[in-house]
Amino acid sequence: MDSIFTKIVKGEIPSYKVAENETCYAFLDINPLAKGHTLVIPKKQVDYLFDLDEESYVELQLFARKVAKAVGKAIPSIRVAEAVIGLDVPHAHIHLIPINSESDVDFRKERVKLTPEEFVQIAESIRKEFSL
Ligand code: AMP
Repeated sequence: MDSIFTKIVKGEIPSYKVAENETCYAFLDINPLAKGHTLVIPKKQVDYLFDLDEESYVELQLFARKVAKAVGKAIPSIRVAEAVIGLDVPHAHIHLIPINSESDVDFRKERVKLTPEEFVQIAESIRKEFSL
């Protein structure tokens, strides 16, 4: 069965796309911890990040680094944090979160509410900074 993220890759459900290459896809988290909270996924559906084969894992991490640099340029913050949780969606993904303190990566904290227009604007600003 296709995961929700596979449906996003196939364009069957919408996403605020940030970047893409042949094997990886990045889009804004719909329920963000901070403005610019981005998810990076392999197009191939594998449940758990650490179960990816070595080549796909390295490819994804190299792609995530490029996305993180673009997020960092587009969204003012001290660092871009990388986190792996994977309790909700059974499709490997990396969270990239602009942070100014440790507490900004507390997944129990209240999420930021953004309008569709704000999501569009944030995705566009990251896309502009992204280069393969
Ligand atoms: P986890 O599996 O615990 O790492 O969390 C899954 C993440 O995916 C959460 O932060 C959700 O807000 C996010 N998420 C779930 N569905 C979507 C979607 N359709 N578009 C964007 N982000 C999503």
